[in-house]
Formats: sequence, C-alpha cells, structure tokens
Amino acid sequence: MKYQNFNVSIYCPVGNINSITDFEAFDQKFQLIEKNIKVGKVYLETFRSGTTISKEQMKKVKAYFESKNIITSGGITTEDSNPSKEGGFHPFCYTSSKTIEKLKEIVTLTAELFDEFIIDDFYFTNCRCDQCIKEKGDRSWADFRISLIQEISEKVIIKTAKEVNPSIKIIIKYPNWYEHYQETGYNLEEQPKVFDYIYTGTETRNPTYAQQHLPKYLSYFLMRYLENVAPSRNLGGWFDPYECTYNLTSYIDQGYLTLFSKAKEAMLFSLGSLIYDKTFSNFPPIIGQVFEDLDQYISELGNPIGVPTYLPYHSYGEDYLHNYIGMCGIPLEPFPHYPESADTIFLAENAACDENIVNKMKQSLKNGADLIVTSGFIKKLGEAFHEFIHVSYTDQKANVNQYLYSTNGGITMKSCLEAAKKIIIPQIRFFTNDVWELAGAYGEDNNFPILLKSSYSKGRIYVLTIPDDMGDLYHYPAEILNTIRSILCKNMKVFIEGNCKIPIFAYDNDTFILRSFLPYGEAIRIKIKSENASLYNIMIGRTYDGYPDAEGTNFDLTISPGVNYILKIREN
Ligand SMILES: [Zn+2]
Repeated sequence: MKYQNFNVSIYCPVGNINSITDFEAFDQKFQLIEKNIKVGKVYLETFRSGTTISKEQMKKVKAYFESKNIITSGGITTEDSNPSKEGGFHPFCYTSSKTIEKLKEIVTLTAELFDEFIIDDFYFTNCRCDQCIKEKGDRSWADFRISLIQEISEKVIIKTAKEVNPSIKIIIKYPNWYEHYQETGYNLEEQPKVFDYIYTGTETRNPTYAQQHLPKYLSYFLMRYLENVAPSRNLGGWFDPYECTYNLTSYIDQGYLTLFSKAKEAMLFSLGSLIYDKTFSNFPPIIGQVFEDLDQYISELGNPIGVPTYLPYHSYGEDYLHNYIGMCGIPLEPFPHYPESADTIFLAENAACDENIVNKMKQSLKNGADLIVTSGFIKKLGEAFHEFIHVSYTDQKANVNQYLYSTNGGITMKSCLEAAKKIIIPQIRFFTNDVWELAGAYGEDNNFPILLKSSYSKGRIYVLTIPDDMGDLYHYPAEILNTIRSILCKNMKVFIEGNCKIPIFAYDNDTFILRSFLPYGEAIRIKIKSENASLYNIMIGRTYDGYPDAEGTNFDLTISPGVNYILKIREN
C-alpha cells in the first residue's frame, strides 16, 4: 500500500500524540487519513512550545504506527513557550545557557527514541535581548545570527545527537521564506554541509490574503532551489491546509507543485489538523486523490528543466520575484552557484549580492550567452553595470497602461496595447542607438522601456523592467509577455504565448505541464520548436494536432482553471 513514485508522510505534533490515551479510538480517527492516503512515514514530535513527551507514551505511539508498516522518525520544533505575549513566533534565544541545556535535553530524548529526526522550521532566532545585542557587536544581525545558529547546529544539536546515537540522521527543514533566511540565522550555505538531509517548506496557501505574499509557483521553485543546494539530499516538500479553506484547489496546488518538482516525499502538516479539526475534514480525501493521480503519470516526466537563474547564498532582493516570473509562464531552474555554462541566465536583484558578478557575467557574454537582468539588478549594481551598457535605474516613476513593442529589433515600434489596470513602473534611463527598446509603455509624448537589448562581446544583454508592485507583471499585455518569454525561453523547445498565471513546468524528455491559476478558462498558444510535432495529453490520452509556422508547430488550447495538462511532444 505505497505509492510507486514518491512517499507521503504526516507530521505529528507533540500535543496531538500526547493526547492519545485510547489507541482504538485514535485508530477510528486515523481512518480518515488511512482510507484516503497511503502513508509511508510519520514524523513524531518530541518537543514544541515548551511541551514534551514521555518515553513511555512515545514508545506506544511508535508501536501503533509501526504495526501498520509506517516508518517512524522524530521531530523537534524549537519554539519557546511564548513568555512575552508580544505576538508573533517565539523561537529560542540562542545566546542563553538555558536554551543550550533545553536543546541538549530535547535532542537527547529524541536521539534515544529514533535513528532519524527532523527539525521543524522554527529553527531560527529573532531575539534582540541584551545578551544577543552584546554578542552581535558590530556585525549585522544576519552575520551574527547565521554564525550563531551554525555553531549551535554543530556544537549542540549534531554533537549531542551523535553522542547519544552514533547512527542518527538529522534533517533540517527550511521554511518557505527563502529570501529572508539569513536575517534570522538560517545558513543555507553551511548548514546543509553538516546536517545529513534537508527538507523544503512548500506552503503557499493564499498569496494575497495572508501575511507571507508568496505566489503559488514557490511550491515548485523552492523545491528546485533546495534540490540544487543539496543534490539528492532534499528529502521532500512539506505543506499544510492553513489559509486554504477559501478554495480547496489552493490546497492541492501545493501538493501538485511540490511533486511536479520531482520531490521524493510530500509531507502533510499536521496529524491533528487533518483528523481532529473539522475545518479541514474535506482535505484528506482531496489530497489523497491528488497523490493517486500523480502516481499514475509522474514517472512519465523526466528531470525538471528551466531558464537557469542565480540566487547566491544569503542574498535577497526583489522579494520573491522569481515566483512572479514563474507565474508569467517562464520556467525557472534556480542555482545557488553561478550557472557558468548556461547559454541563457536570468539575474534578479539577488544575483547582484555576489561581489564577483560582473566578472562572471563578462565570461558568460564572451561565451555568447544571453543575460536577462532586472531593473532591481541594475539598481543594486549601480555604475558597475555601465561596464556592459549605460542603462540606469532612476527614482522617477511612470503610471502606465498602454504598451508598445518592436518586431524588428527596436528600429520601429508598433501598437498601442491597452491593459485594464494602470501600473507604476520605474523609469529606466538608456541611450538610444546604443541600446534598443524591444518593449515599452507609453507616457505623454514619451515612452518608457519594459525590455531593453544590447550586445557585449559575443553575447546579448537584456534589461527587464519590474513594476513597483511585482504582481503587476501580470498586467503586462500578452504581446509584451510574449516578447519577454521569447527571449528568456530562447533555448527551450517549448514556450507559451498569452496572458499570465499559467505557469509551465518543463522536463528534459520533451514533456511539460501547464496548470492555470486563473479563475476562468484561458486560450493560449503553445509553440514547439519542431516541425510536424503533435502533443499528447498523457493524463487523458488525447492527441492535439498543431499547425506549422516558420519556427515550428503551434497549438491553440483553452486551459481550464486548476486542471493539469500533462503534455508530451511527439515528432510525427
Ligand atoms: Zn537573546
């Protein structure tokens, strides 16, 4: 009773398993999960928010799950018991000797009970107590905290656990807020080297009406990034039902996108929410069906591919921009190291955090690559960017909803494409005839670039203007998005034309997936760079015939909301 192509696990908080006194009654409750989901593993928590568990109780809980052939692992949530009542989360203060003693105690208990445990994503610090201020000294909070938590990881958690149980394996789960890791001590560069495995938070919930502002594409994107941080040691993606009751599809989006990334495991948080909380009683059946569906076709998909993009360790910039780009139908493959052999590279503001970025870009351009940089990237790089082209970020804004573009490399511009919403974009300054505008937005007797192009050595460099509200990328008209996609996806076999919010997930065996996040059916054009191609929908067994143009074969499809189009390119 397992899935063929991935594993599914449940995270069980300590409060949920402490409360089990009658295992027969619990078994009745657990049926809601068991009859819908083939659970391969449970993570049994030993500590959260000051609550712990007795060894006797944990042994009973372990025995219950193991009698069902479910693998058991441990879990620790390093959250304090909320003493200050200030609101927000209360992770530990790691300069406190009390914390060190508490951690040793919890880790010892866990390592005595299990051969593996995961650390939930509260393993950060936001403490600014007097001792933390003193120990920070002249360093930034980010520098202080990433070295502090690294030291705790090695000298307290890992050391204690290995002393108690030399064969212990420890997994560190990274939260979904990757742009902000370093500020609270998550050290993506050094921690994965000392922990055995990592895990990925793929919770995207409600992008608009929630505190995190994370576009749905993140459930896929962050899995891919962490896979490239620790290849083959990223054990899976973890999501929950919270802030998804507005729309059940928003819950299963997380499941689909986590597994589209070829995750080894999907973890559901949490046992209690899924079986005790009636708010979420619809969720186990629907996510169970997601796993059944995916298990039918996920083996048909090769390895994920996309436009290489570079997010250096500890970098931040245009907050989560990559996920908005993904939502615009541009598949991305993120790397923590500069992808020096790539022939197209997308560089957002994060990439400008690398002190050697200019030299790395020069080498790519000498090799003939196309580099697409954002307005935030040139803002951060400042005058150093003028080595390539004299294009500058200005403090001036334009309020736009009419657009123009060029089909002859910027010599002449055409159209007045009108979008319903006016958006604010930064005015990017450039010098005509040295740099070419491929797309722009109208002002009054004026226009402002959306996409600029120039050449350098054997390569090409493009500047993409990002609206002040990144979500306003969705309001660029289809023709403008098509121009942007045609450049970013130049080396992909497939790209799409049309409006945004239909991301594409591409694989190296001529398969790809389209999934719409629009609330209505939307017509798009799929362009395959191959003559006489046809498209086969693996999920429903249907073949679509296309029609040729000079570049390959086109397919016009209407994409229904929340439906997966699992497509294989066939050469006729
Ligand atoms: Zn402190």
